[in-house]
Amino acid sequence: MLNIILFGPPGAGKGTQAKKMAEDFNLVHLSTGDMLRSEMHQESELGLFAREKMEKGELVPDETVIKMIDKKLDEHAGATGFIFDGFPRTTAQAEALDNLLEGRNDDITTLMALEVEKNELISRLQSRAEQEGRSDDKDIATIENRIKVYNENTKPVMDYYRGKGKYTPIDGMGSIEEIYGRISEALKSLS
Ligand code: AMP
Repeated sequence: MLNIILFGPPGAGKGTQAKKMAEDFNLVHLSTGDMLRSEMHQESELGLFAREKMEKGELVPDETVIKMIDKKLDEHAGATGFIFDGFPRTTAQAEALDNLLEGRNDDITTLMALEVEKNELISRLQSRAEQEGRSDDKDIATIENRIKVYNENTKPVMDYYRGKGKYTPIDGMGSIEEIYGRISEALKSLS
């Protein structure tokens, strides 16, 4: 099994790269952000509950996303590996993920961290707002808040896996193809 956490701040390109990785390496792409947006569009109870937090750029509660991931791991029990995109975002989520995988005799292979400069993140998020119309990409205050939440709550996840010797930094600057080239080289050496 190849279980990769694709990690990085908002705008690092996780979703774009995860889709390519899933296709080329036959992995299941699990994005908690995509799952929550889909619930929001369906106006489900979960979606309505998550909307307010998402629109402010804050995190939805750990239990909510952990439950979603647990369900997805069951749905894809025969998979040859997973890419976790946008999850885990807190150390509590990381510990829960490790437990979920351990219960399935599995574990995280590595956390791949996309490293991107702040100015570049902001300009990527602003152009995504125009292309995809995501409400949380629209104004600079929400973007800044998401970067702050990332620095305060999510970055510790990197140290958590680094402490376990499961850390692969990737230069996230450049074109989509250049970045993907670096990711796929790293993946080949892991698989
Ligand atoms: P993303 O598409 O990964 O940028 O996620 C969009 C928004 O969904 C985030 O700003 C959070 O409000 C929420 N979200 C996504 N994944 C998580 C997670 N693992 N934990 C908490 N909130 C999340």
